[in-house]
Amino acid sequence: MTVEANAKINLTLDILGQREDGYHEVAMVMQSVGLFDTLRMELVSNGIALHLNTTALPADESNLAWRAARRFLNVHGIRSGVRIEIEKRIPIAAGLAGGSADAAAVLRGLNELFATQMTAAELIHLGAEIGSDVPFCLRGGTVLATGRGEILTPLSCGLHAWVVLARPPIEVSTAWAYNTFDRLHGLETSWTSAMVETIKKGDLKEIAARLGNALEAVTLKAHPVIGDYKHILKENGALASGPTVYALACDKVMAERAAAALSAVHPEAVVFVVPTTGPKENG
Ligand code: ATP
Repeated sequence: MTVEANAKINLTLDILGQREDGYHEVAMVMQSVGLFDTLRMELVSNGIALHLNTTALPADESNLAWRAARRFLNVHGIRSGVRIEIEKRIPIAAGLAGGSADAAAVLRGLNELFATQMTAAELIHLGAEIGSDVPFCLRGGTVLATGRGEILTPLSCGLHAWVVLARPPIEVSTAWAYNTFDRLHGLETSWTSAMVETIKKGDLKEIAARLGNALEAVTLKAHPVIGDYKHILKENGALASGPTVYALACDKVMAERAAAALSAVHPEAVVFVVPTTGPKENG
């Protein structure tokens, strides 16, 4: 069983307040992109054996993929085990939801492998227990996410574009960004509802002009290099999503041109040119 775990970008992120359960109330438009980890899963007699093609992440019970597998096996009372091999391509702690994508891929893969026939809604419910971005990663495509990110409204018209992803050699923890935002009393923003309407119109220039992320100010202040990347990519409407700066382009040639311009000035950047992707099958 082989499953692709796609990265995501945030076209918008509005922070609407803090909740009693410790999470933040958010409104955001999320978009899956064609950068993915590949997960191979097979049945074994017992236990969870996790193998990664990198030592940058632990292959133990702290890994989100492992936690998703444990949760799935427990929920179904399954005593046999699974071997999971992850070929990691999504940069870590880059704001691209790599860990959540892996967890979502495990849930989808095990649902097939064990023929447990969980519905999309049941998988999303289970995924929300593992992490706020896991429900989106199960669904993919272009989605309005509210609540703590687990309430999904798919935007069926979708966004069809090419994306330049440029990641500086820094890691930003999402928890740190939210904490700093709270401490600095970050401004309340309202990009999301306008973005939903703009996506329906399908005008990429207008979409690029309406990108916005409430955590961007926090990240930019701590890591000015993000501002340099944005400046180079700005012709295409650039936004920082975590430490990763991305820009939208209407075709691959334009995207590759912007990527080359950035790499020429910042050879340290890890750059990807990928298309946006639609919803997962049965998502
Ligand atoms: P998000 O945007 O969802 O907040 P992110 O994209 O910034 O997350 P991730 O790459 O998902 O960051 O990693 C966040 C943290 O989760 C990492 O510091 C890492 O230690 C941990 N983690 C656990 N399992 C995984 C995994 N399978 N892949 C990536 N990170 C993982």
